[in-house]
Amino acid sequence: MTAEIRNNWTLDQVNELFNMPFNDLMFKAQVTHREHFDPNQVQVSTLLSIKTGACPEDCKYCPQSARYSTGLEKERLMEVEKVLTRAKEAKEIGSTRFCMGAAWRNPKDRDMPYVIEMIKGVKELGLETCMTLGMLTKEQALALNEAGLDYYNHNLDTSPEYYGDIITTRTYEDRLNTLQNVRDAGMNVCSGGIVGLGESAKDRSGLLIALANLPRHPESVPINMLVKVEGTPLDNVEDLESFEFIRTIAIARIMMPKSHVRLSAGREGMNEQMQAMCFLAGANSIFYGCKLLTTGNPDEHFDQKLFKKLGINAEKGRDYSDETKVAALFEQINEQTKPKEKEMFYPA
Ligand code: SF4
Repeated sequence: MTAEIRNNWTLDQVNELFNMPFNDLMFKAQVTHREHFDPNQVQVSTLLSIKTGACPEDCKYCPQSARYSTGLEKERLMEVEKVLTRAKEAKEIGSTRFCMGAAWRNPKDRDMPYVIEMIKGVKELGLETCMTLGMLTKEQALALNEAGLDYYNHNLDTSPEYYGDIITTRTYEDRLNTLQNVRDAGMNVCSGGIVGLGESAKDRSGLLIALANLPRHPESVPINMLVKVEGTPLDNVEDLESFEFIRTIAIARIMMPKSHVRLSAGREGMNEQMQAMCFLAGANSIFYGCKLLTTGNPDEHFDQKLFKKLGINAEKGRDYSDETKVAALFEQINEQTKPKEKEMFYPA
């Protein structure tokens, strides 16, 4: 029986899922996953930071905020040509989507012509496009859609109840308005959150409810594990238990059966077995290379090897049979996009 697409989840129902025996939950998630997806395919995106640091917002987990002293090297908006070079490389290693992120509260009018040129150029390469630029007005969303932007990322981060403990410079309502503007303009929505922020189990349920009870489920749901960065207020927060993270992925899969659930930031700190568990729980999208905005993402060789061990193929992406050629390309891209240090940026 096909899982029903619902937008009316209650806290009790979601808490009940979190309290299920682990094996039962994994089975339920995997059954749901197989109803809508090829269980051995994972969508691969590449993420590039097109403008780094000096963000006026105060997200407590983020080293890109100008308010915290994290040693992050600021970078101005990248030139369009450089972005297109990176996009070509991403295509070469098998990415099907190129995501561009800027550490802005919102794009300014003067930035729009550049980002529009980037979208058009990346589209011409035959890649899907995604951007994360902060809050958007209706007009900006329409302009990005017209330029051909396929996805817009804007995360809800955490539950509405815990949100005020993490960010004070924009409201939950602001975020929901941006998501609405993106939807109304006709783009696909990419929206998820971060766990391990010191939130309660109830907050993890609350985040998933906020996402799944949107009028339409986001097409893409990134679930990030906090990467603690020295200098940010959450540097010393207690680690989230691995099984709790895997459960969150499984429940996201059950609640949003047709969405791509993305294993996002924090993947670097997960061993192969944990990542495999996340795929089993229904994660079917990852980022490759070009640094995860500013955090190191697992080395592409590692991803390539893991895919091979698990018999996973990249969705509509590269055929990994010509390993030597692919390995050389990975090597080249790693060299060019090596993270400078342990830095982090969550698209917001
Ligand atoms: S998460 Fe985004 S909005 Fe928040 S501080 Fe970082 S770059 Fe700025």
